[in-house]
This record gives sequence, C-alpha cells and structure tokens, in this order.
Amino acid sequence: MKHLCIVISIVFIPVLLLGCVPHANEKRLTGFILDHVSRIEPLTTKANLAYWDASTTGKSEDYDKLSRLQLKIRQIYSDPHDFAVLKEIRSSGVITDPALARQLDKLYYAYLTNQVPPDLLKTLVDLDAKVQEKYNTFRGDIDGKKVTMSDIYTIMTTEKDVRTRQLAWRASRQVGDVIIADLIQLVKLRNQAARKVGFDNYHTMMIVTGEQSIEELDKIFNQLDKLTAKPFAEMKKELDSILAQSYGIAPKDLMPWHYHDPFFQRTPLVYDLDLDLYYKNKDVKKLAEDFYAGVGLPVDDILARSDLYDREGKYPHAFSHDVDRRGDVRVLCNLQNTERWMETILHELGHAVYSKYHDRDEPWLLREPAHSFTTEGVAVFFGRLSRNAAWMQKMLNLSDAERAKIEDVSWKYLQFQQVLFARWAMVMYNFEKHLYADPDQDLNGLWWRLVEKYQLVKQPPGPADAGWASKLHFTTAPCYYHNYMLGELFASQLHHYYVRNIMQLDSDKDVSYVNDKRLGEYLREKVFGPGALYPWKEMIERATGEPLTPKYFVEQFVR
Ligand SMILES: [Zn+2]
Repeated sequence: MKHLCIVISIVFIPVLLLGCVPHANEKRLTGFILDHVSRIEPLTTKANLAYWDASTTGKSEDYDKLSRLQLKIRQIYSDPHDFAVLKEIRSSGVITDPALARQLDKLYYAYLTNQVPPDLLKTLVDLDAKVQEKYNTFRGDIDGKKVTMSDIYTIMTTEKDVRTRQLAWRASRQVGDVIIADLIQLVKLRNQAARKVGFDNYHTMMIVTGEQSIEELDKIFNQLDKLTAKPFAEMKKELDSILAQSYGIAPKDLMPWHYHDPFFQRTPLVYDLDLDLYYKNKDVKKLAEDFYAGVGLPVDDILARSDLYDREGKYPHAFSHDVDRRGDVRVLCNLQNTERWMETILHELGHAVYSKYHDRDEPWLLREPAHSFTTEGVAVFFGRLSRNAAWMQKMLNLSDAERAKIEDVSWKYLQFQQVLFARWAMVMYNFEKHLYADPDQDLNGLWWRLVEKYQLVKQPPGPADAGWASKLHFTTAPCYYHNYMLGELFASQLHHYYVRNIMQLDSDKDVSYVNDKRLGEYLREKVFGPGALYPWKEMIERATGEPLTPKYFVEQFVR
C-alpha cells in the first residue's frame, strides 16, 4: 500500500499544480498513520500488559515476553524505508492540519532515534546491559566489609562518627571507578549513533528529539541559577552551622560526607518533623480516593485495577501505567500508612488521571501527555499536598495548633529541599551537556567544579575519583534529568495560575484544593484533554497564559 503511494507521488507531482501537492502528501501521511497505528497499537498494549505482569509478579518469563515485544516495536521504528517516507513528507512542509502535523512530528522523532545501524545498536545494548549488571552486583566496602546502599543511607543519616561517615560516603561511590571505562565507552558509542543521524552529539539528539532546545534549557537553568543562588547560600549557611555544631567542627571544615546524602540531593533531617505520626492511623488509599473524587477527578476505577500493596517478587517502588490509551490506567504501589506513601499515591494518581482524561476522540498517537515532564509536573503538583499543612488539616481533621506546628517545621524542610533540588539539577544538567560534548576531558575535575559552584560543597583533598559515575541516571536514563526540574517548575506554574486566576486569591496560604471541583475541570480542559495535540510549549501557554518559567517555583519556595 505504501509503495503504491510513493509511485503515485513520483509520477504525478511534476504534472500537478503546486496547490494539489499538500493534498497528496496529507493523504499519504493519513495512510501511513493508519497502517502504522494498526501495527503499533496492539503491540504497545501487549507490551504494556507484559510490563505490568513482569512488575507485579517478578517472573522471568514475563520479562522475556516484554523484551520480545519491545524488540518488535523497535523493529518497526527502525525501518529505514518508512523513515525515508516520513522525512520526505516532513521536508515538503505542506502538512498544515495541526493534528496531522503533530502526529508527523512525533512519528518522525520516534523513527529518527531508532535509525541506528543494527551492529552499533547491538553493541550499545550489550554494553549498556554490562554496565548495569556491574552496577547492580557491585557492593562497596567499609574497612573490607561489604555494605549495601541502604546500609550507607542509614550511616549517612544517623552516624555521628566522622571516620565511619567518610568511609560510607566513599563506599557509596566506589562503583564509579569500577564502571567508568565502560560508561565512557557507552557515551562515545551513543555519540556515534547520534552523529549517524546528523546530530553533533547524543545529548543534543536527546534534547532535540524530546522537542526541547539547548538554548531554551540553558536559559531556564541560568534564570533558575540567578534566582536561587543567594537564597540557597543563606539556607546552606544556616544548615552548615547546625551540622558543624553536631560534629563539633567549624563550618569551613565540612566535607561531602558530613551531609546526609551521598550527592547532597536531600535535605539533612535536622529540620524535619515526623509527619508519619499524622498518617499512621489513617488509610492513605482512602484519603487519596476521597481527595481525587472531591476535585472532580474520580479514581475508583483506576484503584480497582491497581496493585497497591507489598508482595514477594513485586517491583518495590511505584509507577503509573496507561495500558491501552482507552481508559485502562493502573498504578503500582507498595502502600503503607506513612507520609512518604501518601505523597507517592497522590503522585502516581496524578500521572494516572492525566492519562485517564485524554480526549478519546484524539488520534491514538496523540493520546499521551504533552511531554514526559508535563505529566511529572502534574504528579508533583498533587504529591506535594501530603506535606501541605492546609491540606493535612482538612483531610486529617487536625486542630489549628497541629496545623501551625506542621507549617513551621515542614515549610522549612520543604523550602530547603526544593531549592537544594534545583541546585542539584543544575549540576546534573550542566555535567551531562559537557560530558557528551567532550568525553575525553577531565570529567572528575569538571564534576567537582560544578558541585562547588552550584551546591557549595567542597571537593575533598586528594585526587578526584570517578564517584560521579555512581549516579545511576548517567547509565540508565541519560540526558533526562533536567525534565524532573522542568516538572517542578510546571507544577508551581499551574499552582500559581490556578490560585491567582481561578480561585482569584492573592496568596496560597489557605489553599488545600480539597473539594474544589473546578480544579478537575480546569486540568481536564487545559492539560489532560488535549494530550499531545499541542507541543508542550503551546499547551503550557494555553493553560497558564505564559511560557514555562522558573519564576513561580521561586515564588512558591523562596521567601
Ligand atoms: Zn512521576
């Protein structure tokens, strides 16, 4: 069928008037999409079900089934003939219908990133698997004794003895030197694959095919840097004095191992309040179900299909899963009645309602979030409520005194955590950009220059090791980290817009969203319904009246 279309266009285009060409290419694209979706939709649904089975059972035959289906999907997207057709239609520039143009863009990028020669692809997949296996099986050691990552976290959050802390911090990073040679090789191969399809390196390819641009990201991250540098320095100074005192040293002598997380990604618990107290006699599932029903986004159908409690062999974290883009949306959790799981179920259900409420009259290819960071933003928007004092008061029937206590302590923690995360995301974004631009430079030195600049943490004396490579994202989710930050920005922008323009309030002080049905209406109309019909930039402008900006994140968390 597709061959026929090509023959027709080659034969007839020269003799037709220019005005008729769009019609021919539109028809050709419509036919392409019809054929493509008829093959990709059933495979995708099957793969999604296999992923669900594998995650809920942990059985290797389910994982095998999943790999087979993923391979079939990849084979479709790596077809060079189909890619050539899409490229030709796209470069003709004649697709004017917005929905068709969006589908064309999405298809084009999906095919483009899969146009890697099979032998290079195989080398990449094998090397990736090898690095991950080394990573998963490696155990760092303290004085010759093997330790797990959870041992390390326990030491870093509770241990007072500085020598033990230092050894634990070093143990958390030992895997870096073990995998570094393979990881650099992987970076170079990824670059090679990106150059084959016309990009200067893999980082650029990932950004551009993710419908973002380096200039745009640089601009957002530079603004964020400017807006957070001073407040962060102040917050950190206060933290440093508390930490230094607890170790009996001067603040200037604080080293990376004095913080409570190997990468200083999380706020030390010196400010934290035990919020679990408020959740331990509640049912977080019921709270989430009631809350979402109250804002006009009922989730009972989603919860009925979900897998919510801990079980042997089951995936230990959480995710939301759109199985068929026709309403079969599920979440996987391992719920306990704690604040962390309250946040998690609110977060995952945020992803889930985004998927559930895509307009089903939209074409299948567009029944997706506008971008992975926009669904992350919605999930974060809801997840943040588990620590919101006004929300907690309403949902948990707390007294004013209890609410005030939560407000004081929790706010300080949240503020530090958000600003710290922004600083950390700047390290990750900038490092990956430079890593792919020149993998042969002094990367260990580069890492510490960025850490000192953005996180204000000192490089320990002695030669720098490749501890940075122990951050798993470099291996398994390359060039993606910036999207977590963009999600945070989008969440704050939605919050700001809704509070000012829909609730028409000057401050978000008492905003809990509890039982506010307009919220569901607003999100369904402006964000969830259109799915991927508009590029993310346009969706955000339509939903909030302006382009994505770090302004409201800073307004919300820096006071
Ligand atoms: Zn998420």
